[in-house]
Amino acid sequence: MFTIKNKHLRKQAIGPTITMLVFGAVVAAVIIMGFVVGTEKKEMSSWLIAAFFSIFFLSGYKRYRILKKYDDLMARKTLPHYMKINAIKDINNINCSNCGAGKIANRNHSSKAFREFYCGVCGETLYYAERKDFI
Ligand SMILES: [Zn+2]
Repeated sequence: MFTIKNKHLRKQAIGPTITMLVFGAVVAAVIIMGFVVGTEKKEMSSWLIAAFFSIFFLSGYKRYRILKKYDDLMARKTLPHYMKINAIKDINNINCSNCGAGKIANRNHSSKAFREFYCGVCGETLYYAERKDFI
């Protein structure tokens, strides 16, 4: 959660982090209790309960990984970086790196944390910018 730099994504990562902490603790507690109780039958059922709760833990982890991936993607594909790798000097004249068209459109990313700028002709994603307005 603290490794995510985009503040909108960080806000969205609070839920999955809490889920991971709570169910991780539950899984650990159930396994420890199974060892403390000790009998073979109880130990077996504690493994089953731990497996059940680890489903919730893994779903939180999966959501967190997706948010982290978006954050890495946004950090990698910024406008200054795009201008540098394509040797664009004039900010008023940005072209598509794929087809060379100058028609750049933008839309919200599905995570609603940043806007995606793409070529209006061929649809190639060019770069991302953090949203300043957030609903
Ligand atoms: Zn294009």
